[in-house]
Amino acid sequence: MDKNLKTTIATVAAVVLVGAGIFFGVTSAKKGEKCRYCGKYYPHGEIMGHQIRCDKNKESMSFRK
Ligand SMILES: [Zn+2]
Repeated sequence: MDKNLKTTIATVAAVVLVGAGIFFGVTSAKKGEKCRYCGKYYPHGEIMGHQIRCDKNKESMSFRK
C-alpha cells in the first residue's frame, strides 16, 4: 500500500513535470526569440533577419543605406 502510494505520487509528479515542460516549451515557442538589440520578441524564422535590420543594432548600421 505504502509502496503503491509512493509510485502513484512519483507518477503524478512525473506527469506534472512533463506537462509543465511542454507548457513552457509551447509558451516560449509562441513568444519567439528575443532580439538582443531592442529586446522585442520575434518568431524563430524572423529573429535573424530582424536583428540585422534592427534599429538598435549599431553594429550593422554601415550595411544599411
Ligand atoms: Zn530588435
